[in-house]
Amino acid sequence: MDNRGAFGYPPIDPRLLESGAPVPIPQRGRVARFVVYSIVALFIVVGVGGPFLAPTEAVAGVAQAEAPHQVVALSTNPLLTYPQSLAPGTCTLPKFGRTTDELRAYLEAELTCLDAAWKPVVSGINLPFESTKLTMDDSSGSCRARDGSAPVAFYCGADNELHMPVQSVLDGTDGIPAVVIGVLAHEYGHHVQDMSGILLAESRREKTAGRDTEAGLELSRRLELQANCFAGMFLASVAGRGSITKSMAATGAAAFADGGGEKDHGTAPNQGRWAQIGYQQNKTAACNTWAAPQGDVS
Ligand SMILES: [Zn+2]
Repeated sequence: MDNRGAFGYPPIDPRLLESGAPVPIPQRGRVARFVVYSIVALFIVVGVGGPFLAPTEAVAGVAQAEAPHQVVALSTNPLLTYPQSLAPGTCTLPKFGRTTDELRAYLEAELTCLDAAWKPVVSGINLPFESTKLTMDDSSGSCRARDGSAPVAFYCGADNELHMPVQSVLDGTDGIPAVVIGVLAHEYGHHVQDMSGILLAESRREKTAGRDTEAGLELSRRLELQANCFAGMFLASVAGRGSITKSMAATGAAAFADGGGEKDHGTAPNQGRWAQIGYQQNKTAACNTWAAPQGDVS
């Protein structure tokens, strides 16, 4: 899908200005999307899609001689049209602990595993790969929830940062390591969407539809459910090796069914369903929520 004609490239998303949030400096062509994940409650804030990002055609078989670039498209994004799997990986994690230092070490180690898992897939189809940064204090960077609520965890595309505030993560996951692993894998799924151009494409569509409209909420659900699916893929790729046993991976994938059924994230059964699709199939093409019937993304 090429969104140029339909959605345009406004220099600033007025919703960000309305929210009072800082306007991110468009250094790398990132959409400032604030994606929040919680086992119990989830929130989203959409930010800026700047003119700095050159639109590209979503065409299969893009010449690899071109510089890596995002493709601002949803169902036809090459991330989804090339059926790719995450290769089996061995993820070694330190002992899980509840102190900031212990949790940071745990999450940083998992981030290394996530990078290793996704980099070959992202780079292999000429999308720009970039590591993301972990933030564990209560700051929101250039993103914040529109209603002032405190999220458990979120990805801020404007800053390329994963926010995992210590206490809210421990509270939101009951301190269960397998669930923590799943939460970070979900947030990293938004980072994958960011690198691919899916996040920006969705943001523009949702802006056009109106965030609180039925159409806008459906777009948000398709985005969130896809992140669940990507998280399931990661759990499948590392299950039974290193520090992540098959039982832990299965627990992490199953925990998505404990979602609260928010309108912008999907019913609890659908949240669990898409995590299972990723976990059982480990294929990006199977995570194409944009092409799924409405009933599967309710
Ligand atoms: Zn999310």
